[in-house]
Order: sequence, then structure tokens, then C-alpha cells
Amino acid sequence: MTDYLIYEPVIGLEVHAQLLTNSKIFCSCPAEFSVEPNVHVCPVCLGHPGVLPVLNKKAVEFAVMMGLATNCKINQYSVFARKNYFYPDLPKGYQVSQYDKPLCSGGYFKILNSEGKESRIGVTRIHLEEDAGKLIHDSGFGSSVDVNRCGTPLIEIVSEPDIRSAEEAVRYLNGLRQVLQYLGICDGNMEEGSFRCDANVSVRLQGTQELGTKTELKNMNSFRNVEKAIKYEIGRQIELIGEGKPVIQQTLLWDPDEELALPMRGKEDAHDYRYFPEPDLMPVTITDEWLNEIKFQLPELPETRKSRFIENYGLPVYDSEVLTSSKEIADYFEELASNLSDYKMASNWVMVEVLGKINELKLSINQFPVPAVNLSRLLYLIIDGTVSNKIAKEVFTEMMASGADADEIINKKNLIQISDAGQIQTIIENIVRAHPGQIKEYIEGKEKVFGFFVGKVMKETGGKANPKIVNDLLLKYLLKLRTQSE
Ligand code: ADP
Ligand code: MG
Ligand code: ZN
Repeated sequence: MTDYLIYEPVIGLEVHAQLLTNSKIFCSCPAEFSVEPNVHVCPVCLGHPGVLPVLNKKAVEFAVMMGLATNCKINQYSVFARKNYFYPDLPKGYQVSQYDKPLCSGGYFKILNSEGKESRIGVTRIHLEEDAGKLIHDSGFGSSVDVNRCGTPLIEIVSEPDIRSAEEAVRYLNGLRQVLQYLGICDGNMEEGSFRCDANVSVRLQGTQELGTKTELKNMNSFRNVEKAIKYEIGRQIELIGEGKPVIQQTLLWDPDEELALPMRGKEDAHDYRYFPEPDLMPVTITDEWLNEIKFQLPELPETRKSRFIENYGLPVYDSEVLTSSKEIADYFEELASNLSDYKMASNWVMVEVLGKINELKLSINQFPVPAVNLSRLLYLIIDGTVSNKIAKEVFTEMMASGADADEIINKKNLIQISDAGQIQTIIENIVRAHPGQIKEYIEGKEKVFGFFVGKVMKETGGKANPKIVNDLLLKYLLKLRTQSE
């Protein structure tokens, strides 16, 4: 039997992220997605002879931002290169990318490893490149090509082979995606392909340093598939080695339905790109001044924000992690918290009520119908005793359904909490008088009857009586009756 534990998986990821610029990387065509094929095109992105590309400044800035966020060295002199190959989705016959002089290099990104310890994954390089088009294989119509995506700006983030398990790979990917979203430079949608990943996998004996022969996995369009594909491939390689067979260096395509990875046809894998410097584009030079401007624009990143949530709001680590998992959720929480002093209460409401609803309804927080200021008003009304916590949850549900604000709903439905001691005392005395049997039991020592009376008072007031006042007054009154009867 194969002993899996004597082998160590070694994984390096190549991540492509589509940048959220308005126009494409070398022309003024819109970079946005279009349902209609072949409409966002011009002679430049189609590579007609005699036209000249012009570099999109925003794309450079976005790439530098990601370089800074992953502790890379920003190379103030970098060069575009042509990567030559033929494929029907590439009308130019080459892809403009960067080769030996990338924009960013030598960084790292921190993740929690499988033992729960912090681990640094080396970022070999981040470079800019253009995307290719898409082949559409319609059933019955053969294949057609949509070139809308040609020239869409991408960054490629290449990691060192520092990842040691499928779970770590997913954590690294998740972390990168979170940072891209915080930076506002990529929407991070794996299903739609704006965030893609190829995984390089090899295994070696535990304790050895030399790298084993790797394979490259492609075609995984969700975190789940990345995890499954890597696990599959680690298992396959260990079994091969266990049987004394060699691992062959090749590219494998993940089949999500069959849950296995099969080799791509050999020819497509025979890389000879004949890279050479792109003659139509100047090298990219980034002045100190420009670099400082970009540094200055850099927003607060997830890790820093999480620490700040722990320190400034006194929140538990878990809360801070959940609340900063996306920038929009963190923004929502901070807007809520800015109007309140009970931060833990605000956190509980966001984590339980808001995120609960969002997950249930599959919304993003930006689509959530209750703005943070409206929710903060409701929480304020709990704190000042206008409504009980229980009633507030009903009001919240109504706020989501109708879009009305808290005061409107509370007034219209007459939900204001009854905190008037005199009024509650009268209700208590009436109820006690109406239940002579139960009061006799209480006097005789049956404490459980107390709960019965609390229930009656709450029912009588439609749940609106202030529960603390009800408890205090009721206990005092019942004890008095008990003493009098002795
Ligand atoms: P290629 O020339 O095949 O593109 P690179 O050296 O550029 O290979 O590396 C591509 C990716 O593969 C990087 O993320 C790198 O960390 C990873 N990688 C390289 N060698 C190995 C290996 N033996 N096992 C796992 N990953 C590897
Ligand atoms: Mg490579
Ligand atoms: Zn164009």
C-alpha cells in the first residue's frame, strides 16, 4: 500500500486577474463584458498591420498597487514582450506580455498554513499582459470566436512553489482575491473568469529539498474545483511514484464532472513562444514621483483593517475576520458603528442578522435593502429602551421587506416597548387576580409558576412590555403575596 504521508506536495500557482479599467490595455475599446460578440474591437486589439498600441496608464497603476500589496519590488524599468503562438482566439498571432523584465518581482503573501501558523508564500513576479478572445463551441454550429476580450488588461501573479496542500492553495487564492477586491482593481469572479488560476503540482519525499517533476493543472473555475483538482493530482503522482513509474511533465485539464484531470493534446503543450521585446511599445518607466502617488492612493488592506477592528472596536478576532472578509461588509459595519457606542452589539447584528439574510437571499451587501444608517437607528431604539431586542428583530424583517425606516414601522404598528412601571403593575395585578389557582400554587412554593405569569404579561401586552421591568415587578409582587399569606 502507498504511504501518502512520506510525501510532501509542492504547489506553485499562476493567477490571472482581469483589471477593472474602463478601456483595454492598448486601445480605447471598452474593457467591460458584452453579451453581443465582436463589438468591442478596433484595428489595434485585432492586430491589424500598421497600427500602434498605446499603454493604458491605469492598468500600470493597478498592477503596481498589487505589487505593493504583496510586498514586491516595483521595477521602475520594465519591458513588454511578444509571446508568439497560434490559436484561433488570438488574431494577432502573439500576446503582448512581459518576460524577463516584469513590472513587479520578489514579493511575498502571508497565509495561515495547515498547522494554523503564519506562512509566507513567495510572489515570484507580477506582470502585465493582454487577454485573448474566447472560443465558443455551440452545439450544432461548430466553433466560433468572440474577440471582445482581446486586449483586456490582465495581471499575472506567479507564486514560488511554497504551497504545501490543496487547502493552503485555496487560502492563498482567497487572500489574493480579497486584496484585489479591497484595491478595487479586479472583481474576483472565478465563475465568470475574471479571476483564474493554473496550479503547478509536484511531490517529493518529506525532508528532501529537490523539486520533483511538476504537472500543470488548468480549467478550474471555482475554489472547490481548485481544491479537488490539486488533491486529485497529488494522489495520482504519489501513486505513480509508489508504483515506481515516472511523473511526466505535462499540462492537464480538470474535468469537473468526472472529477479527474486528463492530459491536453501534446502539441498544445509544446511551448516555444520565441519571446522578443515588443517593438511598438516603449519600456515602462515609473518615476519616483509616480510611484509615490500610487503608494499614497493605496487603501487600507484586509490585514491592517482586521487589526484595527480588534483594537479600535475591541472586537474578538473572529468577529474582525468575518467583518473584514470583504471591503463592503467592513464599510457597512463601520458606518453602523459610527453612530453607536456598543460595537459588539453592532457586530452581532451584522454577523447574524445582516450576513444571515444576505447568504439566505444570495445578495451582495451592496444590494442589501437596509442601509447602515437605518439599522443604526433601530439599534439605538433598542439601547434607549424604545423597543425590546425581540421586537427589534420583527421590525428589522419589516424594514427589509418594505424599505421603511424603523421609527415609521414602530409607530405604525404601535410596537413601542411599555416601560411604564405603573402600567405594567396594573397589568400584573389583573392577571394575578384572574388566575387564583396558579397563584395558590406559587404561594405554596411552586417557583415554576413565575414563568407562567411572565408569559401571560407578555401575551397581554403583545410582547411589548419591557421584560426586565416585568420580571422585577412580578417577582416583587408575588413574593409580597407569599409573605402576606404566611
Ligand atoms: P514554466 O516554465 O513551466 O512556466 P516556471 O518555472 O515559470 O515554469 O514556474 C511556473 C509555476 O510553477 C510557478 O508558480 C512555480 O512556482 C511553479 N513550479 C515550478 N516548479 C515546480 C515544481 N517542481 N513543483 C511545483 N510547482 C512548481
Ligand atoms: Mg510560466
Ligand atoms: Zn480595440
